[in-house]
Amino acid sequence: MINVKQLSHSFKVGKKGVENEISVLKNVSLTINKGEIASIVGRSGSGKSTLLHLLSGYITPTAGEIEINGTRVSAFSEKEWAKFRLEHFGFIFQNFQLIPSLTTFENVELPLTLKGIEPSERKKQVMELLTSVGLNQHVDHYPNELSGGQQQRVSIARALITKPEIILADEPTGSLDSETEKDILSLIKQLNNEQGITFVIITHDEEVAKISDQRYELQDGVLTKGGDSIAV
Ligand code: ADP
Ligand code: MG
Repeated sequence: MINVKQLSHSFKVGKKGVENEISVLKNVSLTINKGEIASIVGRSGSGKSTLLHLLSGYITPTAGEIEINGTRVSAFSEKEWAKFRLEHFGFIFQNFQLIPSLTTFENVELPLTLKGIEPSERKKQVMELLTSVGLNQHVDHYPNELSGGQQQRVSIARALITKPEIILADEPTGSLDSETEKDILSLIKQLNNEQGITFVIITHDEEVAKISDQRYELQDGVLTKGGDSIAV
């Protein structure tokens, strides 16, 4: 489903005229199959977020190719990427990235509004989903009225509402205590089992790697496959 071939990325840094190129990803290749949870584990600064930004088209690789469902997405224009993301991807972030001025309901509803779904259908789908992730008591709450774990559930619901095939998660449990982390990881596992959603999870946390089917390691921009992945 996701096929990355010899992907490299460098950033230009420094003042104009005296710029330096720093090579952040070096010939990264990976294959993620439909219905898998893949984790990419690496220390801070190893290039994890850069890889996720490349996979989702927010930055353009210096070299290499990305194919998703057989489509060469690395050749997409910005407009094509925007459409593709809305149709195929859901995103989960470490700091949740909820909109503070919107309620739980409104945050989750937003992607459907962007897709042009009509209000009564939006309401039906949002309420169904919020109930299934255990947030029906918190529909009218604002993000600052929720715990970290509840906010992450809202952001997972927002990622799910468009029924994406792939969820890209950047340190999804990075801001949570270990009990809450367990809850969120079992929710991810459950969604993967029941709905066959493919997850790509970037993390520096081995607990996350344990729920994955495939584990990759990223070290100074070099990706290797393996490590002890325990399927649960
Ligand atoms: P991680 O998510 O694993 O912590 P990142 O992908 O965020 O790592 O960053 C990898 C390296 O790339 C770091 O050295 C970082 O400073 C550098 N980097 C990331 N984004 C940029 C950018 N926009 N411009 C210049 N350097 C960047
Ligand atoms: Mg990062």
